[in-house]
Amino acid sequence: MREDIFRITGKEKGPTSIVLAGVHGNERSGIEALAALLPTLAIQAGELLIGYGNPRAIEANQRLIETNLNRMFFQDSARPSKKERASYEYERAQFLKPYLKEAGALLDVHASRTPKSRPFIICEENAKDIIEYLPIDLVTTGFTVIEPGATDGYMNTIGNIGICVEVGYFGDPASVQTAKESIIAFLKARGHIPNDRERTTQSTIHMNDIYITRTDAFVLTKMFDDFEEVAEGQLIGTDGDQEVRANKNAVIVFARNQNSIGEEAFILGEKKNPA
Ligand SMILES: [Zn+2]
Repeated sequence: MREDIFRITGKEKGPTSIVLAGVHGNERSGIEALAALLPTLAIQAGELLIGYGNPRAIEANQRLIETNLNRMFFQDSARPSKKERASYEYERAQFLKPYLKEAGALLDVHASRTPKSRPFIICEENAKDIIEYLPIDLVTTGFTVIEPGATDGYMNTIGNIGICVEVGYFGDPASVQTAKESIIAFLKARGHIPNDRERTTQSTIHMNDIYITRTDAFVLTKMFDDFEEVAEGQLIGTDGDQEVRANKNAVIVFARNQNSIGEEAFILGEKKNPA
């Protein structure tokens, strides 16, 4: 049943972890990876909670049903708006929260709607000992603060470890392989199965700026690739009749046109160590 979170128990004592895919229902890569792994998945130690984030959106092959599930995870249940609190996704988040609380660490598998997009990890410093075993060499930090309400940020704010992997373009079969490898690598790094993996050399970008729309007409000057470099003063888009320019030399991610006020239009970050 897609609604369920499955519980897989190892013979030996060990930590509890959780793996989710399909928090956005159209990001097939993680959903297919999970469907392929689940029937034979076994662990040696500890306890694994594993399942699908947004079953109804997966069924409909849509990103969401009523609202973005990955902005519904707050400690304070009043934080989403009244309208959001009436949504299917809010209800689903309440169902998932006890599982997140129970697990010491989360791997949440996402994929991009942009062709050519490269895999990357979203986490904070507390995930270092785990992520160095994942098969992805680009790490981003800072999202917990600038984009609250996501599964990984929720884990971090309640004292657990939250990791999200973006496994690449969801139309690319390689993204399913990256998703599978990431899940297995996560289980190894967490000690659920013996860890035979080498550490990956990774570069880090710290995200520290988000642009929220002020009008109902935010239009980008062009489509930006994730992690494209922008120069201080460069025109990024227009918000109504106002020009929006980069306030520093930076890399841009998640840039998109928006047609309502208060939406996330793009994020800027800075390289922490030379790539
Ligand atoms: Zn997603």
